[in-house]
Amino acid sequence: MTSNDKVLLEVRDNIAIITLNRPEARNAQDLDLLQQLDRLWMQAANDKQVKVIILNANGPHFSAGHDISDQAMDQVTSVDWKSDTVVEDLYAYESETFLGYCTRWRNIPKPTIAAVQGACIAAGLMLVWPCDLIIAADNARFSDPVVAMGIGGVEYHAHTWEFGARKAKEILFNSSFIDAQTAEQLGMVNKVVALDDLNDEALAMAENIARKPAFGLAMAKRAVNRTQDIMGYQSSLEAAFDMHQLGHGNALVATGTPIFAYLDEMKKVTKEGGKS
Ligand code: ZN
Repeated sequence: MTSNDKVLLEVRDNIAIITLNRPEARNAQDLDLLQQLDRLWMQAANDKQVKVIILNANGPHFSAGHDISDQAMDQVTSVDWKSDTVVEDLYAYESETFLGYCTRWRNIPKPTIAAVQGACIAAGLMLVWPCDLIIAADNARFSDPVVAMGIGGVEYHAHTWEFGARKAKEILFNSSFIDAQTAEQLGMVNKVVALDDLNDEALAMAENIARKPAFGLAMAKRAVNRTQDIMGYQSSLEAAFDMHQLGHGNALVATGTPIFAYLDEMKKVTKEGGKS
């Protein structure tokens, strides 16, 4: 097992298991965690022994989203918000760390499976949506409350593709949660299982897939992803990413920081979502 503290990687036969390992912070994503996660995704992707990759999380909750504690925000935002390059810098940072990472993970030429329990909030969605398959524990719940910060949603706008237009709007406008069963009905989740069975079910699914030829799997994945892209998937995400940056720019002009001062409300939403 390879340990990078906040994310773990274990390879069993030809299956890699990447595990978010910051349960004390409900697997909130700071920069360290994201960089470790990206490194381990690439390590698993480049390991010829590995045919299928599982992403799961230690603790009661999959991920509370970006770490918005003061300490983590300082790490990311140690810039002078009055600088005349701040929008440019933020755009470059989020292009690489959020949209860039998610796009890279989505296009790994091996099947990937997310196994999700508890709360999966905001940037938590950005970890599971790039995966090919999603298995949810029956206690899983999903939400993007970023509209409460004056921005139209997280940096990776797959909402419309995952939920359909009306449900996407409902969830965004209300900062509401959808439960695992609803997510399955909408097609965002492949399968809902009992919490105790989550990791075993993910492993069984991975083992079944791993019996197929690697090149066939890679081409099946590429065919689906290319079809989505021809339908506008990647272009629409890039367009919505620019709108997200407009939200940051608007907040910067209005408040001097890249998000509106609704952090208390945001924290309240994520805290409520984090209740077990
Ligand atoms: Zn952002």
